[in-house]
Amino acid sequence: MAAMAGRSSTSVITRPDRAPNSWGLGDGQAIPWDYAPAPEARDIVTLKERYGLFINGRFVPATGGDTFASIDPATEQPLARVARATGADVDKAVHAARRAQRQSWGQLSGRERAKYLFRISRLLQERSREFAVLESMDSGKPIKESRDVDVPLAASHFWYYAGWADKLDYAFPGRIARPLGVAAQIIPWNFPLLMLAWKIAPALAAGNTVVLKPASTTPLSAMLFAEVCVQADLPPGTVNIITGPGEIGMALATHKNVDKVAFTGSTEIGKKIGRGVAGTDKALTLELGGKAANIVFDDAPLDQAIEGIVNGIYFNQGEVCCAGSRLLVQESIVETVIDKLKDRISTIRVGDPLDKNTDVGAINSKAQLEKITELVASGVAEGADLYQPACDLPDRGYFFRPTLFTNVAQSHRIAREEIFGPVLSVLTFRTPEEAVEKANNTAYGLSAGVWTDKGSRILAMASRLKAGVVWANTFNRFDPTSPFGGYKESGFGREGGMHGLHAYVRLEDR
Ligand code: NDP
Repeated sequence: MAAMAGRSSTSVITRPDRAPNSWGLGDGQAIPWDYAPAPEARDIVTLKERYGLFINGRFVPATGGDTFASIDPATEQPLARVARATGADVDKAVHAARRAQRQSWGQLSGRERAKYLFRISRLLQERSREFAVLESMDSGKPIKESRDVDVPLAASHFWYYAGWADKLDYAFPGRIARPLGVAAQIIPWNFPLLMLAWKIAPALAAGNTVVLKPASTTPLSAMLFAEVCVQADLPPGTVNIITGPGEIGMALATHKNVDKVAFTGSTEIGKKIGRGVAGTDKALTLELGGKAANIVFDDAPLDQAIEGIVNGIYFNQGEVCCAGSRLLVQESIVETVIDKLKDRISTIRVGDPLDKNTDVGAINSKAQLEKITELVASGVAEGADLYQPACDLPDRGYFFRPTLFTNVAQSHRIAREEIFGPVLSVLTFRTPEEAVEKANNTAYGLSAGVWTDKGSRILAMASRLKAGVVWANTFNRFDPTSPFGGYKESGFGREGGMHGLHAYVRLEDR
């Protein structure tokens, strides 16, 4: 575990059961991990005391003047206060977006739109360290992930869709692609800037304007992005960002002047939004939860698979909709896999998100930590065997140990419900048929992983798994050119690639 900056310079992981054989340590012996703290400097970020709403190119207070705090989950301290939008503010933002769609952004050629998107991408790259540090402070994710995954991927989404802005005729040959109009976009807290990019980049490329509502626990990178919009000279009203509680999200989604709704978040709220826009002519895409199966066959490259399993579930504290939270292991290798996993998990460093050595940062909020704790307790109560490395956790902040459950039955809540935390449930199978049956035995259908040496088996499995994304001998790989989305309770519609553009256009015959 990486020590929290300023508290201690070294840390120790104890393995009460046993140490890796290769280290020659006996039962109960401590494994020393001397990592000097390597904190990223915070001073690249200039936090404002208060952030307004970003409407029509300007930062304005909420109509009622109310604000709420955004908390640093690693310290439980408030970072800044953010405006609490009202229904009147939703109206203003949608109105500004409509006007920009009619009078400025919507009148630009694809080539001109592309220039702005390239500019935004460049600015994200130039300010990448600032974004990465702010994202880790506000969300709790480790700096090495925000620095190496979230921010570069966000920039590359703008870059990729900039390339499409003047080529819509090639994306949809023989058809004319018209923008839908004003898009209402509601995003979650697990990848705040990246989800913003997934939503805003294709919408703008296709000529739409947007009103975006970030999650209330992670609004700050969206507000910094608003500054980038100003810096890029984006026509006022093209991008509007309003902060406020869930009901503001609903007011936005159901606003009569909105043409398209894009939501990423829980299945429960996705269903509510679906009901809210039913019977209207609004276009809708929903990217909801998941309970992905990560399937390991006995011919898999095991050391590589162990890394993939760890990345699949402990990346971003497991707060990932496509996390490989159900590990399906072929029965003949289960003991070896679990042994290797326990060894590997005991080297995971949990701690200060801003420390460059940290693997697992803080859980995003107190409420999410409570949800994880409750589900883990249900796993124990239902009879599964719990394993957690005995690492120290920082004495404040919302932290949770990497957790592994064996002896899990398909009926257990930990095998059925989305935990959205660093908790892996291990199940076994004997034949490929049984693996497919168990993998598909879920209400969700977002992602899956297959680990095997055989290409033919990968293809056979991929065609039978009911999941929008199937990774082969890897996991949690994202690319702007590749569509992403789910089946069943994981939602509908695709983001990324040409499919992602399709969700923001109306196609007409030539
Ligand atoms: P939510 O679905 O509540 O939040 C996602 C977004 O929707 C946030 O911007 C939220 O705003 C907004 N929202 C909340 N209520 C409404 C509403 N009635 N109408 C419109 N928008 C609304 O997720 P939670 O934060 O509550 O997380 C709960 C669980 O959802 C997690 O434990 C996890 O299992 C799952 N989840 C899945 C995600 C995914 O990527 N698929 C992402 C996040 C969560 P606000 O923040 O202001 O409440």
